[in-house]
Amino acid sequence: MPRPHLTVSALALVGLLPTAPGLAAPAPAATPATAAVLRPGAPGAGDPYFPDMGNGGYDVSSYDIALAWNPATKAIAATTTIKAVATQGLSRFNLDLKGLVVQSVRVGGASAAYSRSGAQELVITPPKGIAKGASFTVAVTYKGVPTAINDPTLGRSGWVATADGAVALNQPFGAATYFPVNDTPRDKATYIHRITVPTGYQVIANGEPTAPMTSGGNTTYVWKMTSPMASELSSVAIGRYTVTTGTVAGTSIRSISAIAKSIDRTGAGARLNTATGAVVNWQRNRFGAYPFASTGGLVAPIGVGYALEVQGRPVYDQGSPTVSTGLLAHELAHQWFGNSVTPKQWKDIWLNEGFATYAEWLYDEAHGGPTAQQQFTAHYNSTSWKGKVADPGRDHIYDGLVYTRGALTLHALRNRIGTATFDKLLRTWAATYRGRNVTTADFIATAERVSGKNLDAFFQDWLYESGKPSLRSAQ
Ligand SMILES: [Zn+2]
Repeated sequence: MPRPHLTVSALALVGLLPTAPGLAAPAPAATPATAAVLRPGAPGAGDPYFPDMGNGGYDVSSYDIALAWNPATKAIAATTTIKAVATQGLSRFNLDLKGLVVQSVRVGGASAAYSRSGAQELVITPPKGIAKGASFTVAVTYKGVPTAINDPTLGRSGWVATADGAVALNQPFGAATYFPVNDTPRDKATYIHRITVPTGYQVIANGEPTAPMTSGGNTTYVWKMTSPMASELSSVAIGRYTVTTGTVAGTSIRSISAIAKSIDRTGAGARLNTATGAVVNWQRNRFGAYPFASTGGLVAPIGVGYALEVQGRPVYDQGSPTVSTGLLAHELAHQWFGNSVTPKQWKDIWLNEGFATYAEWLYDEAHGGPTAQQQFTAHYNSTSWKGKVADPGRDHIYDGLVYTRGALTLHALRNRIGTATFDKLLRTWAATYRGRNVTTADFIATAERVSGKNLDAFFQDWLYESGKPSLRSAQ
């Protein structure tokens, strides 16, 4: 709101008011509103499990990762360009980057000062402060040999070197091993990967490809993910692959499969596309519209010991090109639960893994396997009930506590509200929060709204208590 004496003075200056002696004194100089509130962005995004991950003070809208890989040295040379909006006035801000050598940082085209701090903070001071609400561009040029992370409890992630290239698997905190990033699932953005390799290597990344461009013995592959994506779900694979394109039967959804040539067999890519399409079609019927423009899968011997629900196209680490139906059902269900609808905080990862595990039970139930009730009974009687499903602790985000007890919770909920209402809940959840971030409280509120029941005591028992819930709470 303008100050009245400034208004009067201004009017006096243009001669519309007589200059009274009391109004002649100059008004105090106004402090520019933005300068007063410029401050450093936080070095973390506020996740209690991973306090250094992500940063505060801005929201990224897009990443453009232009990266060249050298098979002789295993080194990368890259420029990542980030478009973001300041959510506070910024005197400086951080990106997450682990290792590598930064060569230059530009903000809005102007050279910016930078320093490295701790294991993963790239601290950037632009030549001028950035006002709250302003859009800005950051371009970081860097090089070096990326190093995978070996976490004692959470395993191997990030840029993983393979026999003939590399595969990046970024959950939960691998992205920063090869690009500067606001590495928190709560800051989704679109992605373009422009990856240059010696001609003869293939590159697969999230989304859809454009035609590769070859020049001077190198080929640049460009892949675009136009739906919002969490950094932990981004991926790049470089190596010798057979790439096979098809469509999901009866739809216009493209399916792109990449099989490492070291394990490829005739027709394996087409068979993976067909198997993927069958599961996607069944899941579309149960969960609602498929959330991305394409699907498929990448199969290679990577040596990490897990499959990952990379956005749009899961990665399966195995030595056979044939992926089991249960694994397909799990990783493809994540496209709805985890990738499109993404928890803000890692403590809520049961919203990914409980749902994907229950999706396996649902798929089995509909395809001649055990019923979900039979799976429930077997696991209810055998699982460990130590720990809290919706707050398992940093070192337990990949435990049975999250996967199996998450699925048990969903089956108990289905028994409590009925199968028809439960199916409607899954579709409502996926549709309401498509492309967005969520909390467990959002799911509880949605379940109560769809069912018309007060489920607070039920969820308290199944999600927030350590110990075996009474089956009576599921009736
Ligand atoms: Zn999973």
